[in-house]
Amino acid sequence: MGNNGSEPSPGQATADRRVPLAAPLLLESELQEAIDAYRSGWLCMGPRTAELEASMCAYTGAEHAIAVSSCSAALHIACVAAGLGPGDTAIVPSLAFAATVNAIAVTGATPRFAEVAAIERPWLSAAAAEALIEPSTKAIVAMSYGGHPGEIAELAELAERRGLALIEDAAHASGSWQDGRHVGTFGVAGALSFSASKNLGIGEGGMLLCDDAEVARRARALRWHGISASTWERRRAAAPEYTVEEVGFNYRIDDPRAALANARLRRLDEDNRRRAEVDAAYRAAFAGGEGLTPLAPPPAGERASHCVFAVVLDEEIDRAAFREHLSARGVETSIHFPPLHSSPAYGGPAAALPLTEAFAARAVSLPIFPQMEEWQQGLVIEAALEAVTAVDEEPPASRAARSPSAVAG
Ligand SMILES: *Cc1c(COP(=O)(O)O)cnc(C)c1O
Repeated sequence: MGNNGSEPSPGQATADRRVPLAAPLLLESELQEAIDAYRSGWLCMGPRTAELEASMCAYTGAEHAIAVSSCSAALHIACVAAGLGPGDTAIVPSLAFAATVNAIAVTGATPRFAEVAAIERPWLSAAAAEALIEPSTKAIVAMSYGGHPGEIAELAELAERRGLALIEDAAHASGSWQDGRHVGTFGVAGALSFSASKNLGIGEGGMLLCDDAEVARRARALRWHGISASTWERRRAAAPEYTVEEVGFNYRIDDPRAALANARLRRLDEDNRRRAEVDAAYRAAFAGGEGLTPLAPPPAGERASHCVFAVVLDEEIDRAAFREHLSARGVETSIHFPPLHSSPAYGGPAAALPLTEAFAARAVSLPIFPQMEEWQQGLVIEAALEAVTAVDEEPPASRAARSPSAVAG
């Protein structure tokens, strides 16, 4: 492990004994596929993107898959395709990433922030979403927290019954299934992320999934300035003309990245199986009520991507001190997510959401990635259990003196 031959002293973080929150890994053979794409001379969106889209349809069961520059881009396209605009409202969990809500807000529509199901089930509650429906409501934007499918089937039923569009932020959910259905295929459109820390991390990139041919046609046009056919399609069809059908964006991916994403997709199930083992080891270690509680495990019929592993700390535990303790042992942690309902960007203070606020104040995300080594897992467990005790015994005065540590995104 070490490059100087000396063992790190116990209890001390060294450069060799750090556990990152996530560790994106690309294999040499996968990098070679990107190099091949660069050498082919076709650098923008082309045949490798089409291959990735076909693989995504085959993997997820979606009728259509449209590769884009990011999950945020896919969410924006989905909101435009759902017809969101000024005067409309869309229901969204406050416990989401900024991209989830920004996609609604940039169309001119207003987000309405809804409560999560429970403190150990921090995903959008279908009952809470239903209670917020008003005449202006046009869509529900759900988010698969950490890759948990959550109440996605209930939300799909609700959207259908009330005539609303269900859009899925499935950034965490590559390889998440509920009753044989891939998350991101329950609504009008779903968005996956290829951002570095996600299960299909390649740097930047995303995928819009949908079943409806008209939504797919619009999504393809919107990712390319609203133009009716791509350069590749025009060249293949020898059709040099194009028309601008509506105002669109440049949300294209490029072929070298599409090649990387396609290569990663082939090992997604194996990666997620490894993540599930890490998840199981954490759950076993934290099962004794030591002051930290993992999220509710996926029920029968669900397979989760295990993109994030979050624990909820007991109320009396100082989270900043807990995180500092882990950091001192070389263990990186994060917070998913600060709640958004009071953010000034979305109109400032909104109605209180007690479960969301409690979760957001007490949750900590621990490292999880497929190639995590046993010593890394052991160190996280040991440091977390130790931190709970240490922080609990610390006199309140020294806690108060400490400023809260930074929140990561
Ligand atoms: C990462 C993330 C996004 C954005 O994904 P990009 O591909 O970086 O645009 C959206 N929603 C959630 C919940 C995320 O974690």
